Amino acid sequence: MSTAEGLERARLTVDLGAVVANWRDLGRLAPGAEVAAVVKADAYGLGLAPVARALARAGCRSFFVARLEEGEALRALLAEPRIFVLDGLAGRPPARFLETRLVPVLGEPAELALWRATARRVERRLETAILLDTGLTRLGFSAEEVASLAPDAFDGLALVLVASHLACADEPDHPLNRRQWEAFVALRARLPAAPAGLAASSGIFLGPDFHFDQVRPGAALYGVNPTPGRPNPMRPVVRLEAPVLKVHAVREPGSVGYGATWPTAAGARIAVVPVGYADGWPRAASSRGRVRIDGCEVPIVGRVSMDLLTLDVSDLPAERVRPGTPVELLSATFGVDELARAASTIGYEILTRLGRRFERRWLEPEGLA
Ligand SMILES: *Cc1c(COP(=O)(O)O)cnc(C)c1O
Repeated sequence: MSTAEGLERARLTVDLGAVVANWRDLGRLAPGAEVAAVVKADAYGLGLAPVARALARAGCRSFFVARLEEGEALRALLAEPRIFVLDGLAGRPPARFLETRLVPVLGEPAELALWRATARRVERRLETAILLDTGLTRLGFSAEEVASLAPDAFDGLALVLVASHLACADEPDHPLNRRQWEAFVALRARLPAAPAGLAASSGIFLGPDFHFDQVRPGAALYGVNPTPGRPNPMRPVVRLEAPVLKVHAVREPGSVGYGATWPTAAGARIAVVPVGYADGWPRAASSRGRVRIDGCEVPIVGRVSMDLLTLDVSDLPAERVRPGTPVELLSATFGVDELARAASTIGYEILTRLGRRFERRWLEPEGLA
């Protein structure tokens, strides 16, 4: 991929071929299971429409969003797939779920009763998903709530998924994984027979026991490492580049940026790049991380400001760093997980906050464009 041409401003490139390849790779890891795709939060910030279209064309038949509005937006793009809304009904009008054929992931008895009453009113067997809380203490039926259900609680409904969500799937040896698995199997047995799903990205790597009938990765599709502490098995999806705006040739000792946190010596050269915390580059990563210019790594120095980053390019020959020279900010070598580590957060948070000021480019999967 050439970076030199046509880079007028910061540009985020999303490799849809890598998203599709990641989706297929996860399917090979969970051969008996359907691989749904989690595309909440604008496909983790990478663009709902291009990401969902590419996955649908590759054969993905089930999508998960968090909010009703996300489901409506996805339905406007894709007529066929099943779309699950993880929030459940959440006090929103059931009619809106019907209008766009969204399947609420119901998390408590009152929601189930309302959905069942809706089905009765419209005289249709409505597709229904149930979320069980097996230890995350977030949304989902507790064991007591499952026990409280009347024998006819699901009459008139088509239960298409019983799901739960793991709290510690990224720590394979955490005892809560097995405990949640056991709770899931036990609770599921008390509901009408239906396909089951427990694993998100990291859960897929816990082995076949955790795959059940459906897995629902999000982050791994977008290149975030689902196996922290081990090499990333997924392909990188995002690439962020920006042109150098200005290069300082430092003549006298001074400092770089707000707070004067980074001292500079005479002879240093500092390059300025148009990406800042308003673009999602975390301020907590100030003076941390390395980006690349022409294949060479250079350190980020000084505070990250709202619109700008500063790089110490003293080690590169002056002719290789000029206004307009492209800088690779996120790449296969320094990606979302590495930036996340520099900011003491996780790749998920970096991805979902990548700014809307970037020029955005989506590379279509080969052969599917
Ligand atoms: C966000 C979410 C997922 C996807 O998780 P990843 O770790 O991104 O794969 C799956 N299930 C539920 C309930 C979620 O909230």
